[in-house]
Amino acid sequence: MEITKREIFHQKELSEDETNPWQNALIQLNEAAKVINLDNNILKILERPATTLITTFPVTMDDGSIEVFEGYRVQHNMSRGPCKGGIRFSPSVNIDEVKALAAWMTWKTAVTNIPYGGAKGGVVVDPSKLSQSELQRLVRRFTYSIISLIGPNSDIPAPDINTNPEIMAVMMDTYSMIKGHTELGVVTGKPIEVGGSLGRKEATGRGVYITMEEALHQQNKQCCDGVKIAIQGFGNVGSHFARIAYENKAKIIGVTDIFGGVYNPNGLDIPDLISYVENSGKRSVVGYPGADPLPQADIFSLDVDVLAPCALENQITTSNAEIIEASLIVEGANGPTTPRADKILNERGIVVIPDILANAGGVVCSYFEWVQSLQSFFWSDDQVNNALSNILIKSFKEVNLYKSRYNIQDLRTAAMCLAVNRVAKAIKLRGIFP
Ligand code: GLU
Repeated sequence: MEITKREIFHQKELSEDETNPWQNALIQLNEAAKVINLDNNILKILERPATTLITTFPVTMDDGSIEVFEGYRVQHNMSRGPCKGGIRFSPSVNIDEVKALAAWMTWKTAVTNIPYGGAKGGVVVDPSKLSQSELQRLVRRFTYSIISLIGPNSDIPAPDINTNPEIMAVMMDTYSMIKGHTELGVVTGKPIEVGGSLGRKEATGRGVYITMEEALHQQNKQCCDGVKIAIQGFGNVGSHFARIAYENKAKIIGVTDIFGGVYNPNGLDIPDLISYVENSGKRSVVGYPGADPLPQADIFSLDVDVLAPCALENQITTSNAEIIEASLIVEGANGPTTPRADKILNERGIVVIPDILANAGGVVCSYFEWVQSLQSFFWSDDQVNNALSNILIKSFKEVNLYKSRYNIQDLRTAAMCLAVNRVAKAIKLRGIFP
């Protein structure tokens, strides 16, 4: 008898590698499925992405040579609405990572109850090695390669690691040129001048701040006078989170990025650090004069109240979960904690606000941008930020209610249970075609 992958999974023959994101996404799903006693037929659907597109495409380089790149678009599930999720450019991106990120988008949109399914895309490329015109040709050709999937009613890309509003503008333009009319709603995270939303750029960082504030209030702590924070990652998520926390009087004592880190026990001057990163030409916190150097690995053991991993997957693992001093972890990144590390953190009583809730501010604001783009009617800063806080605070409360009602130990499992339940209900109500 042939043993299917699913049976292998249920026999717990998982690989020793704790850092395969797709395996980790399946572990999290199965954990939630057990708690809510999910119908096995629904689990079978959710354990596989609905569509996986792998494309190789040529790009003409400035010197006339041709490079062939590999790209992906994965749609995990679309039962609750069009698929939604970013596109990352990275030399290490691979299909298992994109599958996991697509599934996490399904849960993220469900936990915040916005009308989307989950998707993600990626291209294996280091964009810093390309000229502006090479990058533009790559973006256009990749958009063309995934055009059968994307669209304002089917699948709406957005920025992620190493992609930005300018790249979204080019994706929107490519799609629009091919369709013969301007279609603002096909991507989000666009520049304001071409249908972007106010507040979108800082929305993920703002959401990390909002969920941290809620969790601190729950622990009867004042937010954020004197709250000590360590941040891993100082890109679009980490830097905006740092700025908003700083404006609310938090003390950010350590920050690391891909090049190194900085430490100041009295608190870093975040606006000054941001302008150093922007103006020093290095695009890094390294060498900032108002602080001491900090080795990257030391960010986890700093004596802080809050640790915010805002970089990549698999940063908190069995090798460092024991040394974390923070009592609260807010996951600005997607998948920064492995399931094995999660177990250690839970046993140690460290509260983790999971990625699908903590960093959902980006996609929630993308939802506002999409609505504005479809209606060609644009909101004020205040409208965006109020709507964002309302949705995130409501989601935070709903996850906590789920946690206590079902006697669940940790917020990740509670958030997953809430999300999986919503998706399962949608699948059941719609029924299976044909
Ligand atoms: N890439 C972001 C995320 O991981 C945003 C996705 C979106 O706005 O669609 O949540």
